[in-house]
Amino acid sequence: MSDTQQSVTVIGLGPMGQAMVSTFLERGYQVTVWNRTASKADPLVAKGAVLAATVQEALAANELVVLSLTDYDAMYAILGQATDALAGRVLVNLSSDTPEKARAAAEWAAGHGARHLTGGVQVPPSGIGSPESATFYSGPKDLFEAHQETLKVLTATDYRGEDPGLAALYYQILMDIFWTSMLSYLHAVALADAHGITAEELQPYVASALSSLPNFAGFYTPRINAGNHAGDVDKLAMGAASVEHIVHTTEAAGVDTALPAAVLEVFRRGMAQGHSGDSFTSLVEVFKKAVASA
Ligand code: NDP
Repeated sequence: MSDTQQSVTVIGLGPMGQAMVSTFLERGYQVTVWNRTASKADPLVAKGAVLAATVQEALAANELVVLSLTDYDAMYAILGQATDALAGRVLVNLSSDTPEKARAAAEWAAGHGARHLTGGVQVPPSGIGSPESATFYSGPKDLFEAHQETLKVLTATDYRGEDPGLAALYYQILMDIFWTSMLSYLHAVALADAHGITAEELQPYVASALSSLPNFAGFYTPRINAGNHAGDVDKLAMGAASVEHIVHTTEAAGVDTALPAAVLEVFRRGMAQGHSGDSFTSLVEVFKKAVASA
């Protein structure tokens, strides 16, 4: 390793960690890796990564330690066996979890003399290494700035603030959109399939429906921001009737109605709360009131 070669440790070699290690190697970094299932390191070692024999060794190898794990519990399972090696380390935790878990992890790391940056990667493994991809970061600003150039090897960076929970919060907000949108897509595919329409035949229409959403969000955002839910463009009662048609069409096709039925339930709650003549954006107000769980 030359004096100028930069180096990093990556712990966690799922699809995401593997993509990160490959990208660091391609960019000339010296990379030390550790994974619970050591065999997952084999293809990376073949490309030049160094497999640490223990977690201690992985932590000792570099100041900067990138974690790419299923969740924060996995971090405790791994680093909990090597807390004596944490002092002076910078943990860049790119595992997803809740804002509360991220805040607790930052405190836990500080208790062992390490510093913690929270990250929320917004792309699949195939997007790692692309400057068009982005990752949310939060935590101490000086720490983020000191390591930004290395982090930019993975994706563009979007620093959200000092609160360690912020990156996780932004990540979860976007995942809220991702999972509900993708489930609606899968439900539509099932409904189409019940009528002999293939996913491939449906795809152009799916693309068109999804690409119209930014326009809707663009139109409604300033109104939502101003607390304006006027029913001049659409009315909640009209939306509820539309969702009812979807439930019935789904039922008639013998397809699971759980998803549109859940949507209909929210629309009906909005109507019961007096929003029938308001825009469907008034459902924001319905969502703000937590429903006591059964
Ligand atoms: P995986 O769930 O496949 O990563 C698993 C990694 O966590 C493996 O290294 C696994 O070890 C380790 N692990 C899990 N539980 C434990 C444990 N109890 N003890 C020790 N190690 C454990 O996730 P990905 O690689 O797909 O993603 C990593 C993170 O990135 C996740 O938080 C994910 O939400 C996030 N992310 C993923 C995206 C994706 O498309 N994949 C997109 C955006 C974010 P082992 O190999 O031994 O099982």
